[in-house]
Amino acid sequence: MSNVNELLTFIEKSPTAFHAVENICRELEAAGRTRLSEGEEWMLEPGRGYFVTRNMSSVIAFDIGDASSLRVIAAHSDSPTFKIKENAELSVRGKYTQLNVEKYGGMLYSTWFDRPLSVAGRVLVRTEKGMEARLIDVDRDVLVIPNVAIHMNREVNDGFKYNAQTDLMPLFGDETSKDGFKKLVAETAGVPEDDILGSDLFLYPRVKGTVIGNSGEYILSPRLDDLECAWSGLSAFIAARKPARGVNMLCVFDNEEVGSGTKQGADSTFLRDVIKRIFIALGAKKEDVYRALAASFMLSADNAHAVHPNHPEKTDAENCVFMNAGIVIKFNANQRYTTDGVSAAFFHKLLKDRGIPFQHFANRSDVAGGGTLGNISGSHVSINTLDIGLAQLAMHSCCETAGAKDVASMVDGMTAFYSSNVEVGRDGEFFLS
Ligand code: ZN
Repeated sequence: MSNVNELLTFIEKSPTAFHAVENICRELEAAGRTRLSEGEEWMLEPGRGYFVTRNMSSVIAFDIGDASSLRVIAAHSDSPTFKIKENAELSVRGKYTQLNVEKYGGMLYSTWFDRPLSVAGRVLVRTEKGMEARLIDVDRDVLVIPNVAIHMNREVNDGFKYNAQTDLMPLFGDETSKDGFKKLVAETAGVPEDDILGSDLFLYPRVKGTVIGNSGEYILSPRLDDLECAWSGLSAFIAARKPARGVNMLCVFDNEEVGSGTKQGADSTFLRDVIKRIFIALGAKKEDVYRALAASFMLSADNAHAVHPNHPEKTDAENCVFMNAGIVIKFNANQRYTTDGVSAAFFHKLLKDRGIPFQHFANRSDVAGGGTLGNISGSHVSINTLDIGLAQLAMHSCCETAGAKDVASMVDGMTAFYSSNVEVGRDGEFFLS
């Protein structure tokens, strides 16, 4: 179970997308990959590995064999949370100081109440020559969003509609904490208040990930969606080592929870730009590029809904998935999940040949369900793609539950993917090795 402990430690050290990406970069550097910057010239060599970040919250890593194909795994770095507004404080009757927050993504509101919260993110600091970004983490219990007592809200257990403006503001302190937030941020960043020119700061729950269940069969942690897949992809990318053929790519994109439509999200040019620069550096001809894309595959990895113990009726009768039953392959006729017969067959063969467990998911036919990275990214880089994930409960709660055994299955499946090689014949014919 050492990979479970490593995963939970990674998540704990990654309270925001910025921190997740920083921790991924640190692991990549320790594993011998070279950091690139989008603003500099790239001199790439076959047999070597590299990574590049955009906005400090998305990262693409790649190991170069040759220009014959791409094997891409995509996951996301962000999770639903609350973002702190520019004018960050609210005063209540002169006695309380609250933080002024708005929601980021679609979370289960009730899970954020009555638990210690803290603040982390990015600040832009004035320097002699301009400005630079620094990550901060207040890293102590400092805030709470208090429930209204049942005596003052008798109907709460009959279903209650929370209002994001009135019900969800966290308590920061008493009247002595007025004007204290900027001070706290500046102190944490180690700079004078006036030197902070901008910020992207978020709340995070202070709860640590833990192993639960009578036999230790589950994990309970914040941000399993989608740091579980991001961490599995990273572990597989490093474990697979440098490929002889093709290019292995790991993409961890920010902003999936708000539609991916940012300069660093899956709906940006980031992946396409990096692919173009790899082909240019390898001296590939246009014809080589089209041939390589035809032989390329992508795994879009984002967690899936396990059958709920209290509500098994919420899932399809047969295409339903359970924790600890292996990698989930997701299907949707309207292609909100990108898996089709070809991409499923390719992955089935890969997993069956190695005895790695997998299962199939489709929504109930009367439920729309959510899309994820694959179909968005596919509009920029059109390659064979399938949507996969791990089964979990309580998606978008601030504490989610997943299967402890599944982490190893995902790492093994992704490593097998990175170690595979595909050549194409006529349309529909694939040579796999
Ligand atoms: Zn997700």
